[in-house]
Amino acid sequence: MSNKILGIHHITAIAGNAQRNFDFYTKTLGLRFVKKTVNFDDPGTYHFYYGNENGNPGTILTFFPWDGIVGGRVGPGMASEIGYSVSADSLNFWKNRFEELKVPHGEISERLGEVVLPFQDPDGLRLELIASKYGDDRSAWATPAVGADVATKGFHSVTLTLRSIKPTATILTDIFGYELKEQEGNRYRFITDAVSTASIVDLVEAPEMARGLNGGGTNHHVAFRVTDEAVQMELREKIAAKGLNITPKINRDYFYSLYFREPGGVLFEIATDNPGFTVDEPLNELGTHLKLPVQHEHLRAELEKSLPAIN
Ligand code: ZN
Repeated sequence: MSNKILGIHHITAIAGNAQRNFDFYTKTLGLRFVKKTVNFDDPGTYHFYYGNENGNPGTILTFFPWDGIVGGRVGPGMASEIGYSVSADSLNFWKNRFEELKVPHGEISERLGEVVLPFQDPDGLRLELIASKYGDDRSAWATPAVGADVATKGFHSVTLTLRSIKPTATILTDIFGYELKEQEGNRYRFITDAVSTASIVDLVEAPEMARGLNGGGTNHHVAFRVTDEAVQMELREKIAAKGLNITPKINRDYFYSLYFREPGGVLFEIATDNPGFTVDEPLNELGTHLKLPVQHEHLRAELEKSLPAIN
């Protein structure tokens, strides 16, 4: 069990204005802001992490906010939709909330036997609230505006849009331990039984659609979860043996990462549970300080001036 991929670890997307992103995810959606740091590869840019109380893997959505960035285009070769798990009773609350706050959203509809409410963030990133038919016992982070009974519990699934699903499906089944469980139209649902939540990847086949382009309002990569670095390095061998280029292990302070582009074009990451978000801030103070990795700590005075203030 534990030597497998344990579902989704986090998903990273590209945003425009940092304050607008912060307001949408913490206030409108009611997520916890669990870490304020910088892009380790470009420290002049923030890296925001939102999740549940503990910042558990499977709940973490992260953003690189670049003010004024050109919008991207959703299409094959990228993660196209992020699915959050909610209780079935909450969907009317959310529809009303989206109407009141003028959040672009679709109609509540059914797909693969589940009720789905699609919506978009201020940059046009596509998200969905899904009442899981598989159950979800995770406790949600509550805010005054979004109570625990209606709050998101973490990821239900991620949808990848692809020209052809086969090469990506092979990675999911042969290396990651997922199985094709259901299909509806051009949507193929892969599930791992290694975990009970954040365990779904939907592949949507769109052979004619124009290829996706990264930019504001699109997903940058999907990170899959492993227990620790030993499992991670075993997977690295298997992926390299398939002839795919994969990075060495990279220290992201809150987890260790490997990156590779799967043959369908989506950037995948494999991230560890250790050490987690409390490594440099106590649980009750998560997200309240600007945290910098040791290699960028010498830039602190400069970054505190140049990064936009968030409140
Ligand atoms: Zn990542």
